Amino acid sequence: MLPPPFVKQMQALPGFNFLDFEAALKTSPPVSIRLNPAKTKGEVFSSMASPVPWHPMGRYLEVRPSFTLDPLFHAGNYYVQEAASMFLQEALRQCIDTSKPLRILDLCAAPGGKSTILADFLHHGREDAAGAGLLVTNEVIRPRVNILKDNIEKWGYSNVAVTCADPEVFGTLEDFFDVIVVDAPCSGEGMFRKDPDSIKEWSPANVDLCTARQRKILASVVNALAPGGLLIYSTCTYNTRENEDNVAWFAATFDLEMVPLAINDQWKITSSGLGYHFYPHLTVAEGFYLAVLKKEEGLRKKDQVPPRFKNITPLNKQRVEEAKRWVRQDRGELLLYETINGEVMAFPHAWEKEFLILDTALKSKWFGTQIGAFKGNDFIPDHGLALSLLASPDLQSIEVSLVNALLFLKKEVFPLPTNTPMGWTLVRYQGSPLGWIKVLPNRMNNYFPQERRIRMETR
Ligand code: SAM
Repeated sequence: MLPPPFVKQMQALPGFNFLDFEAALKTSPPVSIRLNPAKTKGEVFSSMASPVPWHPMGRYLEVRPSFTLDPLFHAGNYYVQEAASMFLQEALRQCIDTSKPLRILDLCAAPGGKSTILADFLHHGREDAAGAGLLVTNEVIRPRVNILKDNIEKWGYSNVAVTCADPEVFGTLEDFFDVIVVDAPCSGEGMFRKDPDSIKEWSPANVDLCTARQRKILASVVNALAPGGLLIYSTCTYNTRENEDNVAWFAATFDLEMVPLAINDQWKITSSGLGYHFYPHLTVAEGFYLAVLKKEEGLRKKDQVPPRFKNITPLNKQRVEEAKRWVRQDRGELLLYETINGEVMAFPHAWEKEFLILDTALKSKWFGTQIGAFKGNDFIPDHGLALSLLASPDLQSIEVSLVNALLFLKKEVFPLPTNTPMGWTLVRYQGSPLGWIKVLPNRMNNYFPQERRIRMETR
């Protein structure tokens, strides 16, 4: 049952058809995915997919398949994402000029759905590792950073820094970002259909708490937005206090202006004059709100670039030569380095200055793609390399059937084709890499990460 104060609040919205809204909450939530343009060559679920109107790679599925049992899900060929969230792409497309290199911050990023949209946006039509920009994807709650890292790794790009910092820390990076996305923690009213448990957590007191927290988050990062930069604010709630009231307060307090979006009438997205709403009785999606604000134009403060990295060491010449054998050489110059934990990472040389600044400002961070580690002189490739678009096309690989792909994803052994050569081998399903095995004279070792292995019955 819907909480009475919530019902009252929705009924008070001007021109709002509460009965239709209430009826829509009793229907099944739609299922949607977003294809990875860098990895999918065609449709993944072609027979039953229809397009999400506001995202070229978004698809609705008629039935919910078991994503866990689909190897292409593990390969990062698509992301399971609520359709309304994909509207971020349309806001980016309408408001952002990608002819200049961009620095984008996704401040509240886990599990990473919006970050994968941002990463695609930066790479639109570009094959190089640097893309059209650098994405910093941040999650303050430490236990949620792993899922964010996994999803970023699956998506495959290397012009990304994953960080774990309080929003206030970003406030110290004056004028640094061209775009900041704040997909704020909220009262979750838009999730009432998909996750009925969220109804129990709703209360007017929680709305108060969320409103105050959102203001604190917004105020703490405004300093990091460059003059003329865009702030994109979104929530999955309908609540005027968390949406319009907060945006109006933010614009007035920090002198930002609202940026209007052109909305196709057929999409049935509702403009409130201070942002855009998705309501489940009007759009095939859950509840969502998004607004774009622009900081006043002005002179951007010059970057203070530290002379050297604090926590990472460039690889020595011999190690660079070995590491280079594993990565593509045709996607732009890469900086290869080792972290204090001995992980070998690769990131686009073009963003070295930005990484130097972030390295000094932030404690917990991972730059670029983890490609492996040295054990003595041997290079042990990482799962991140297998899923990365940086992996060399010359790496040894085998194509496996669905049955064997699932055994691989369960971290079990499976029969190898006769004459499979010894050594590190990429396991591919329908051409997409899933991870590594090492073929030895009498056996194989399965290097699929233990924490990501499929635990459910596959037969
Ligand atoms: N952007 C994500 C996506 O599209 O996959 C969803 C983000 S979710 C709506 C909000 C995130 O904000 C959560 O990951 C949550 O852990 C984080 N969060 C919670 N409290 C926060 C705070 N005080 N400051 C910044 N982020 C916070």
